Amino acid sequence: MNSDYDYIVIGGGSGGVATARRAAEYGAKVLLVESSRLGGTCVNVGCVPKKVMWNAADIHHHLEQAEGYGFAVGERQFNWSKLKQRRDAYVKNLNEVYGRLLDSSSVDVAYGFASFINDKTIEVEGLQYRAEHIVIATGGYPTIPDITGAELGISSDGFFALEERPERVAIVGSGYIAVEIACMFNALGSEVTMLLRKQQLLRPFDVSVREALTEHMLESGINIIPNTQISSARQLADGCIEIQCNNHETILHVDALLWAIGRRPATDKLNLHAAGIEVNANGTIPTDAFQNTNQSGIYAIGDITGRAQLTPVAVAAGRKLAARLFDNHADSKQDYDDIPTVVFSHPPIATIGKTEDEARELHGDAVKIYQTRFTPMYYAFAEEKPKTTMKLICLGREEKVIGCHMIGMHVDEMLQGFAVAIKMGATKQDFDRAVAIHPTSSEELVTMR
Ligand SMILES: Cc1cc2nc3c(=O)[nH]c(=O)nc-3n(C[C@H](O)[C@H](O)[C@H](O)COP(=O)(O)OP(=O)(O)OC[C@H]3O[C@@H](n4cnc5c(N)ncnc54)[C@H](O)[C@@H]3O)c2cc1C
Repeated sequence: MNSDYDYIVIGGGSGGVATARRAAEYGAKVLLVESSRLGGTCVNVGCVPKKVMWNAADIHHHLEQAEGYGFAVGERQFNWSKLKQRRDAYVKNLNEVYGRLLDSSSVDVAYGFASFINDKTIEVEGLQYRAEHIVIATGGYPTIPDITGAELGISSDGFFALEERPERVAIVGSGYIAVEIACMFNALGSEVTMLLRKQQLLRPFDVSVREALTEHMLESGINIIPNTQISSARQLADGCIEIQCNNHETILHVDALLWAIGRRPATDKLNLHAAGIEVNANGTIPTDAFQNTNQSGIYAIGDITGRAQLTPVAVAAGRKLAARLFDNHADSKQDYDDIPTVVFSHPPIATIGKTEDEARELHGDAVKIYQTRFTPMYYAFAEEKPKTTMKLICLGREEKVIGCHMIGMHVDEMLQGFAVAIKMGATKQDFDRAVAIHPTSSEELVTMR
């Protein structure tokens, strides 16, 4: 046995780094194990590089409006590889920042894959470490299907590795990652086809934002083919990828094929059975409200639990767990209700709480909907005037706001403040009592009738 700790954290991503640092702040002796780069999915192949690409796409949209505002914008050229170099350097710097933060918090770091020897001991690169408390924060990896030629495709990880912008892209999937990447490629000049297994994009989202986004995407030239599955892919002599679909009609020729069909939990290297840890049928690790697994002293946080797979959720759950284990906050636990989230599509979607369908199923006629659709003033001089849609889902006589769903320019930055109000239990009347800020789009949220 090489070393004893109070807390071993497996995975140096959003949840792992947050819980490790917080536990160390409370005085625990902490070891964090990371098999790859510090920062995990979010920093390396998720939120951060994605937002850089979204910003680039957003600048494209602003340039489109520049002439209307009197600017003479010359020929536009976008240099993908230059942006990639800058983005990679930005991410590398963040990796180093994470290293320094862990160091300054006195968290020891071991690099390599952790695997359980028993419920109190793990092994990393031939060395064994022991702790009374072990948390699994290993996140997940993109899924690649099992069909002929699947390896010709890339995943969202591969999207961030692309050195050049492909001219023609096929994206398979209908979730938020598929939609975001489709919109970014489209804005940056690629010809995009989306292949959906079912009928709709973003199925769990409110119908108002889902339909509005589909309309926007079609108008911007993205080709969406529903009810289609790829049966095989092969590389042709000219280097392009030929995609065959199971409807026997669709054959596509593209320069890049991107799988965005979901993510699988990273448990394969953990040797979970040695510690007696149960997993769900889909491989995620079940936890109770306090992030406890079935095995005493072993916890799971973040994407690996399959719950609300978002960075701030992993961070918050990790910090709450550290407070419970090392700062005597016996009741400290993450609240998984009313989590606000944004889809960085073009235009973006911002959403919190119940969708209309969910609310009606739960509460029937006690639900009242307020909805508005308008053209933001920003588009006053534009030929195409993308609309913004906002919807409030209210419950009962007091009209408690139990859902808010928006799509349109700047809604990504609007929701956070309204999320505070909704989390506090605000009613429609509370919204109406707030004086509008004019002229903005967000004023529509407090003036709906
Ligand atoms: C393309 C994309 C875009 C996203 N955009 C957003 C967004 O805009 N906003 C948002 O909130 N969320 C976003 N997410 C989700 C977000 O990245 C995740 O929810 C978050 O990273 C989960 O954190 P985690 O700590 O659970 O796992 P991760 O961040 O995935 O970290 C897990 C770490 O564990 C390591 N690991 C795995 N197995 C082992 C092992 N056996 N031993 C040691 N280390 C191991 C991995 O290398 C990894 O570094 C996005 C995800 C993707 C893929």
